[in-house]
Amino acid sequence: MSSVQIRDVRKSFGGFEVLHGVTIPIEDGAFVVLVGPSGCGKSTLLRMLAGLENITSGTISIGDKVVNNVQPKERDIAMVFQNYALYPHMTVADNMGFSLKLRGANANEISTGVKRAAEILDLTPLLDRFPRQLSGGQRQRVAMGRAIVRDPQVFLFDEPLSNLDAKLRVAMRTEIKELHQRLKTTTVYVTHDQIEAMTMADKIVVMHDGIVEQMGTPLELYDKPDNQFVAGFIGSPA
Ligand code: ADP
Ligand code: MG
Repeated sequence: MSSVQIRDVRKSFGGFEVLHGVTIPIEDGAFVVLVGPSGCGKSTLLRMLAGLENITSGTISIGDKVVNNVQPKERDIAMVFQNYALYPHMTVADNMGFSLKLRGANANEISTGVKRAAEILDLTPLLDRFPRQLSGGQRQRVAMGRAIVRDPQVFLFDEPLSNLDAKLRVAMRTEIKELHQRLKTTTVYVTHDQIEAMTMADKIVVMHDGIVEQMGTPLELYDKPDNQFVAGFIGSPA
């Protein structure tokens, strides 16, 4: 676990600024949801946290370390994407162990890590299967398994449920929250779904066109929205 500090972060693509100075303090162990319409900069911010995108200006710290120039592999962060492509030719166990292997873990460390993650996510009976033999929900759990296998300081989720049907989406919300309650890993979760944000977050960050409109607990945003945008976005049904 670790706190994450995003300070006055800007991002331009080819001279066009898409994030205009974003500051978000994230406490150790918090479950923070970034919410906002498509194109507001959520994925870009998450990719900068993961080190997959350069920061144009500002700083990002994890714990007490500024990570602006730290390579993704050296950051103690795991990310679950919307299109969590599993390796089709690898078993569930190998899919989950791959990131450990990439980081130079030995066979024993890999097998211990995979077993632990499989127990946490109820995947133990499925370890020898291939992705094509799994349901959508099981695949999503394997994608989470790949993230937790390293026991990272920070989890990043980018709309991880948006490809699932409505019923499974609700079940997975609960599952992700339970995982967080169990591991207490600092989590930044991106969605454009206000219901998901309201039900999952300790703290919601409402973004709009590259700025933070408001941050607060779900209740604070619901009761005291700072402006029309927040009121409209949080108050309207999905
Ligand atoms: P969100 O995840 O909130 O939908 P994104 O972070 O994907 O938003 O995108 C924010 C803005 O940055 C959009 O206008 C998008 O077109 C632009 N953008 C994102 N990635 C790139 C890129 N690699 N090159 C140019 N523009 C990009
Ligand atoms: Mg996105």
